[in-house]
Amino acid sequence: MNRQTVLITGASRGIGRAIACRLAREGFDLVLHCRSRKEQLAALAEEIQECQGVIVRQLCFDLLDREGAAAALTRDIEAHGAYYAVVCNAGLARDAAFPALTGEDWDQVVHANLDGFYNVLHPVVMPMVRSRRPGRIVTLSSVAGLIGNRGQVNYSAAKAGIIGATKALALELAKRQITVNCVAPGLIETEMVEALPVEEIRQMIPQRRLGSPEEVAGLVAFLLSEEAAYITRQVIAVNGGLC
Ligand code: NDP
Repeated sequence: MNRQTVLITGASRGIGRAIACRLAREGFDLVLHCRSRKEQLAALAEEIQECQGVIVRQLCFDLLDREGAAAALTRDIEAHGAYYAVVCNAGLARDAAFPALTGEDWDQVVHANLDGFYNVLHPVVMPMVRSRRPGRIVTLSSVAGLIGNRGQVNYSAAKAGIIGATKALALELAKRQITVNCVAPGLIETEMVEALPVEEIRQMIPQRRLGSPEEVAGLVAFLLSEEAAYITRQVIAVNGGLC
């Protein structure tokens, strides 16, 4: 039985929730994070612990709160040890055509997605390195970060930034046997896409359907496996052929 621990940010719903369920089935112990939906997260943690028998801890902080994130993560690592893997999944979109995009829309989306990368990974990376064991980091970008998307100038900028940060960190950690990869989903059926013109977008997807959170979770599980030890600094799309 695998007793390695994985931190998953944004695990209260959507893709993060599916990743948590999948990794629990793989036998990983989990640290599940959310910002505000603590009851949903607690229910998920209880369900996973009962069904899969793995250890599940919960952390709540805002990605924008650098000190709060560092304090929560450092406390958890000091008490339980370094993580085997981190899945930086939490993210935020606030869409509008560029002329209507407010400064707040820009700031919220760029900071939550991009500062989130630093605020989560900075406190956890050195403990992973010091553990002298192989490790995994997976970040979530988006098709918008690869090719840009109408109405998502802020989100496309943030998600493209994640790709650059991921590739650079992969270089820094390669010799330590810690792989760092980016998953770039297309349109996935979660709350995040509820406000989008889904029918219109569906016609642009070669497979003519949205992806499921479980399809993204399957890729993340593979990237965390031993078989994926030689895959690093890559961006892997899950998008039905969208780009
Ligand atoms: P959801 O909107 O369904 O869930 C977002 C998660 O992120 C929630 O757990 C939420 O916590 C957390 N979160 C949001 N903002 C913050 C914040 N400021 N601080 C801490 N936690 C925060 O998103 P999805 O599951 O759809 O997306 C997951 C990831 O995949 C995101 O990075 C997204 O950008 C990316 N993605 C999604 C696509 C899609 O089509 N769905 C396509 C491409 C990429 P809480 O519930 O507590 O608010």
